[in-house]
Amino acid sequence: MVNKRKTQQHQELLEDIKNPSRTRQQLPHWLQKQDFTEADLPYIHALLVSSFADWQEEADGFPWLDGQLILLHPDGTSISLDGLVEDNESLPVSWNREIIGPNAANTALETCRPTLMRAEEHHHPRFKAFDSIAVPIFTRTAGFPCAIVACLLPAGTAQAGDLKLLQAAALHIRSCMYRHFENLFVGGLLRDQKLSKKEESRRDILFDVMRRLNDHIDVENVLSEVLDSLEKLYPICKADLFLSQDYNSPNEKVKPLAFHLNDMDLCKSAFVDGQIREERSVGRHQLALPLSGKQGVYGVLRLDLPEHVFDDADISFLTMLAGAAGAAFEKAKLHEQANILVGELRLINELTQRLNSSLKLSDTMQFASAELLNIFKSDYCCILQVDSTSHEFVVMSSNVEEMIGETYPYEYGFCGVMWSTKEPIILSDYCSATPVSSKLMDITNSRSLLASPLLLNGEVIGAVLITKAEANHYSYDNYKLLQVLSAHLGLAMSNATLHAEVRRMVITDNLTGLYARHYLNERIRRKQVKDSSGSLIVVDIDHFKKINDTFGHQVGDDILIQVSGIIRTSIRDSDIAARWGGEELAIYLPLLNLDQTERVAERIRYRVETETNPKVTVSCGISEWRVIDDRVSVESLFYKADMALYEAKHHGRNCIVVG
Ligand code: GH3
Ligand code: MG
Ligand code: MG
Repeated sequence: MVNKRKTQQHQELLEDIKNPSRTRQQLPHWLQKQDFTEADLPYIHALLVSSFADWQEEADGFPWLDGQLILLHPDGTSISLDGLVEDNESLPVSWNREIIGPNAANTALETCRPTLMRAEEHHHPRFKAFDSIAVPIFTRTAGFPCAIVACLLPAGTAQAGDLKLLQAAALHIRSCMYRHFENLFVGGLLRDQKLSKKEESRRDILFDVMRRLNDHIDVENVLSEVLDSLEKLYPICKADLFLSQDYNSPNEKVKPLAFHLNDMDLCKSAFVDGQIREERSVGRHQLALPLSGKQGVYGVLRLDLPEHVFDDADISFLTMLAGAAGAAFEKAKLHEQANILVGELRLINELTQRLNSSLKLSDTMQFASAELLNIFKSDYCCILQVDSTSHEFVVMSSNVEEMIGETYPYEYGFCGVMWSTKEPIILSDYCSATPVSSKLMDITNSRSLLASPLLLNGEVIGAVLITKAEANHYSYDNYKLLQVLSAHLGLAMSNATLHAEVRRMVITDNLTGLYARHYLNERIRRKQVKDSSGSLIVVDIDHFKKINDTFGHQVGDDILIQVSGIIRTSIRDSDIAARWGGEELAIYLPLLNLDQTERVAERIRYRVETETNPKVTVSCGISEWRVIDDRVSVESLFYKADMALYEAKHHGRNCIVVG
């Protein structure tokens, strides 16, 4: 009777379980196709536990079998529920054949069929008093057993109906199991979807940030963009950017990477390894992300959080952000450097063009001094030239008036250092480090100095010094630029000096040191344009041929030099003395009238007569021009003086005739 009722309920249950639409909503087809794989088996214990618990709840009140129903994992372990199995000392936890020998469960697993095993077939002492029945539960698609439902019935009581009932229970448990599985699966999918949504939004943000980063070509904007984006994305975190580069940012969150500070260890190792670094302590989570580009690591982005809120995805996102920032920083930096280089090239080009446009040394150096002050935003500049005859540096140009023309021995001050090292100097603070004393630094109260020797063929031919009142004014880039500019400046200085020397040689008579005839002509011509009058003395040594004949040419030359010396020291600075040709000398005296000129000529005549050795005398012819005259020309001036000289010779020599 009992068995008949049992069979009826069992049938209904079977219908319920076989037709899920009676009890559950129809599931989407794709979901029903989802299933375990054999690889999942080691991980389904928890699922079996909850499925078994569900089943027990749902199946409660049914007239189940007389024995205890047990769910087993295919590995033979009992799926314990509230200590159901463990507490029952009469049953072993494991039904594994290796451990307890043959029983219905392990045979069912092996044969994949419902199995009934009589008490006498058992080997294990605890099983001796029981018949065992077991039914495998198959997966829904691949059809391999993923669990076994087993039951121990008093020895000799097990019937085929019990096996049917157990089969029904197995189907019910299987249905509970798949409900759980689907929940888990859908939950997992939802979780994945949520994660991928978050990921998607992060990627959108990253894309956006990267686009904006790439829009910026100046370093400052790139840095602000990174820090602003972080602030918006993670408002609770405090972000700081430490840069290894010599870079001063107006942004207070951008600081130099100080290797000597202890609390910078994390940043230091992130910088050195180029890898993200993390440090977690109670109430604090620190992340150090290297800002790396293709050519190196430029700094570290440090994030400080009050707690650990970042997941792996956040960290990989931040790593990507730091990478993008590093690349953008590098690009901006390269762009900046390229701009600087272009600017420097333009500057060098302009400067050399200007430097070479004038060959007058003082003009060139004055121009260079003004340019250097401007380029390096400096307060004072001083350009010095080496005077190899006096072994001194001479100040050629400076905006410190009192220094112009000053001379310093080779060893003095910063020039002295450059004289021996031939290297440029960069000094950040003259007050805190005073390697040598410097008049320029002292009188201008300067603290920063940038200086470079001016070299030509490896020789120091001069020096340039620029200074600034504030300390730490000059950068390494400034130092390099001055070095480049100095090469051009040195060349310009040497060109101008050479040019001046060539010009001096061209306008000077070699033997006497007086001006050459063409230069005298040129000067008189210019004077005749500007002045209202002027006079000329032509000096001719008397019987010079005889001197040569008597004492030789050498002595003759010496007499020429002696007479020239007398002339030079008998005239004003504004007068121009020249060698007119052979033993004839000429002096042009701007704005002097005939009387005054005659006095000068007389002085010369007298001195020659009294001072020369061997003694010679000179004859002088004088002429003058005045703006009111009809014909004013160099030629007529000389002609008149020559005529007067001729007369002086006629009058017995050693005398002066005014033409
Ligand atoms: P006078 O009193 O008429 O001027 O007689 P002078 O001998 O001085 O005149 P003259 O013109 O006959 O001779 C000039 C001589 O000066 C001829 C030449 O040998 C000599 N002379 C010209 N230039 C130089 C020079 O550079 N060095 C030397 N030693 N002699 C020179
Ligand atoms: Mg003569
Ligand atoms: Mg003569």
